[in-house]
Parts: sequence; structure tokens; C-alpha cells
Amino acid sequence: LFTDGQKISPESAMLMNAWTSLAALALERVDLVSVAKKEALMSETDKLRNTILNSLSHELKTPLAAISGAAATLLEERTNYGEKAQQELLKTIKEGSRRMERVIANLLDSTRFESGSVALKLDWCDLEDTVGVALRQLKEATTHYKIKTHMPDDLPFIRADAALLEHVFLNLLDNAMKYSVLDSEIELGITFDENNVLCTVRDNGIGMPANVLKDIFNKFFRVTGEITVGGTGLGLYICKNIIKAHGGRIWAESKPGEGSTIFFTLPRNIDNAKMDILVE
Ligand code: ADP
Repeated sequence: LFTDGQKISPESAMLMNAWTSLAALALERVDLVSVAKKEALMSETDKLRNTILNSLSHELKTPLAAISGAAATLLEERTNYGEKAQQELLKTIKEGSRRMERVIANLLDSTRFESGSVALKLDWCDLEDTVGVALRQLKEATTHYKIKTHMPDDLPFIRADAALLEHVFLNLLDNAMKYSVLDSEIELGITFDENNVLCTVRDNGIGMPANVLKDIFNKFFRVTGEITVGGTGLGLYICKNIIKAHGGRIWAESKPGEGSTIFFTLPRNIDNAKMDILVE
């Protein structure tokens, strides 16, 4: 078409014009698509960030308001509160602080898991003791429920990270209470066979539909429905990572309106267990 000295015919020129504009259009489109994709991605990230910030600030603001309200009432000089009322206000402060601690501990745990900086501190662990520590921490809240524990007398000690397992029990018991009505029964059971210890936390609360039972262990996943209870969607994600790091398994069984049970296993001999420390 362009050999030296040759003139371009008007038809060729038109054809070339058409081609170049087509090519330019195509390039522009590719560019637009990638810009649009980037924007869509940005807005997804923004949306997620907003959701997280909203639920986090709500999760921290509510107990903080209760704490400062109770403290202000206690400090009010003109009113003279009786011993019982004072105790109630102090309990409110303690329970509010515990809630805030839980939210912050979950946040810290999840960032630690993501940065891969969690090394299990394995030691001989008496699960009955670990459950006891968790229940003592939840003391104020548990008085509003009927908590039953079942454990065999000959429950073997296992090598595990007791502090991390305590987080698991705290999160599971917290959920069992949060998604149940006051005064209902919550059962915490432990059994074992030759290879594993099996722990269950069962409640009679609102339950969950079958199609979400796998997703509830994902980060920031929350079941949406007409019943709104505060939360960050981090608790079960952390439980899953802790149990997996121990070479165990965690799963849920539930039906809407019929309560939920969370099961998890821990190997009795962690040194031989197939470890799965990778965070999903
Ligand atoms: P959250 O802070 O939202 O409670 P979790 O990770 O602990 O986060 O739980 C994820 C979601 O799974 C919850 O938002 C809730 O919808 C559901 N869920 C967890 N435990 C229970 C339970 N015991 N009963 C009913 N729903 C539950």
C-alpha cells in the first residue's frame, strides 16, 4: 500500500481511515473496561470497608455507651444509690468492658492470623480447665442462661494452645447466648475417642438455614434476616483458624428456629496430626 513513490488511492485512504478509527475505538474500549473494572473493584472494597467500620463502630459504641452511662450515674453525687443498684451499675460496666475486649481480641486475632504470625504455644491442656476459664470470663452474661456442661471424668489432657482454645469457647458461648432468648438452655459437651476430642456447643436459639452453614466460618459473614443482633462476623472465622491450626475440624448443624450446634474436633496427638496452618 505504501511503497515509495506510490500514491494512495482515495479508496485506500478511506479504508485506512476506517481501520484506524476502528482500532482507536477498540483501544479506547479496552481502556474503559479496565477503568470500569477498577472502579467496580474499588467500590466493592469501599463497600466492604464501610460495612466493617459500621459494624465495628456499632459493636464498640454500644457497650461504651452503657459503660459511660453507668459510670456517670455512679458518679452522680446528688443521688444516693443503694448497695444493690450500685452493684447492678458496676456489673453493667464490667459486662460492657468484656464485650469491648472480645471485639478487640477478635480483631487482633484475625490480623495476626492473616499476617501469619500465629505460632501455637503448645502445652498439656486440661479442657475442663479451659472451659472453666471461659465460663468465668462470661460470668455476668451466663447468669441469664442455663449453661450445662457434660464432660467425662477421664477426659484426657491434650497438647494444645490453651489461650487460643479459650477464645474458641468464648466465641462459641457468646454466639450461643447472643442468638438465643434469655433463660434458655445452652449445653457444652466434650467427648473423646482414641484419636480425637470432640467438643460441642448447642443452643436452642434462632438457628440458621442449611445453605449458610458452610459460609458462617468465612470472614465477615453474617446471616441476614429480620432478627438483628450486633456482631462483626469474625468470631467463627477465628474459631475455624484456631481449630485448623491444631489439626482439627469445625462444622455446624442447625435449623431455623430449632437452635444450632457447633462441633469441633482436636487431635489427641497433635504431633502426628495433619497440620493445616494456612489461613483461608
Ligand atoms: P458475629 O459477630 O456476627 O456473631 P460470627 O462469626 O461469630 O460473627 O458468626 C457468623 C454468623 O453466623 C452470625 O452473624 C450469625 O448470623 C451466625 N451464627 C453464629 N452462631 C450462631 C448461633 N449459635 N445461632 C444462630 N446463628 C449463629
